Amino acid sequence: MTRLVVLGSGSKGNALAIEHGGETLLVDVGFSAREIRRRAAAAAVSLDRVAGIALTHEHGDHTAGVALLARELGVPVYCSRGTWERLRPRLGGAEHRPLTMTTVVEAGPFRIESAEISHDAAEPVALAVTTARASVGVAYDLGRPTAAVRYLLRSRTALVLEANHDDVLLRTSGYPPVVQQRIAGAGGHLSNRVAAELLAELVHAELAVVVLAHLSERCNTEAHARDAVAPALAAAGFTGTLHVARQGDPTGPFALSLSETAELPLG
Ligand SMILES: [Zn+2]
Ligand SMILES: [Zn+2]
Repeated sequence: MTRLVVLGSGSKGNALAIEHGGETLLVDVGFSAREIRRRAAAAAVSLDRVAGIALTHEHGDHTAGVALLARELGVPVYCSRGTWERLRPRLGGAEHRPLTMTTVVEAGPFRIESAEISHDAAEPVALAVTTARASVGVAYDLGRPTAAVRYLLRSRTALVLEANHDDVLLRTSGYPPVVQQRIAGAGGHLSNRVAAELLAELVHAELAVVVLAHLSERCNTEAHARDAVAPALAAAGFTGTLHVARQGDPTGPFALSLSETAELPLG
């Protein structure tokens, strides 16, 4: 059994945990180390045996706790070279395990793959984490779903995907046009509408859990995100469960386990 817990998601911090075989992989740690520990305890996520910390990119809402946690837990940091270069000044002696687009990197019982994403950061990536029982795709802070991201996210058993803003709420948000353009632009964030289109493409028989993430507090609501995505998933034949991650507290745990006949993508 593999468990997924989204510890929190939004512009003020993003973190999730994947547990398998008594080990935990943290994916993004965009809260303070203390807050990550508090949320992990609240969601019954063990940090006793952490295989590593995987990062999507260097922005503070994804890395706020990484320096202290990597040191306290004594674990390597899995991220692209570009992300590492940006973080290195504050990571001290932490160990870097590079993620590249062409390799599958092992971290304990977890296999990590990555794909370049379109976002205003050094070398940002979407991630896919595979265990013996499940496969979780994580993609947020992406302006556009590229072919590489579509390929990475296909055939997963769970998807954590950005549904950042509602197009109308963004237009009426009071943000200056230049800010609106940045949010909706190629280096910005995925709208509910584009997330719905992408998810409809990604539906397959073994997709059990979809979690919408990184919702804008000002330009989105849980209801807007659900209303945009749920009909598209239903029309595509989705039989799993749809959830919306919150900024303030954890979502899950989600127990992931393949059906007897299913085969995992092997990278
Ligand atoms: Zn970002
Ligand atoms: Zn972010």
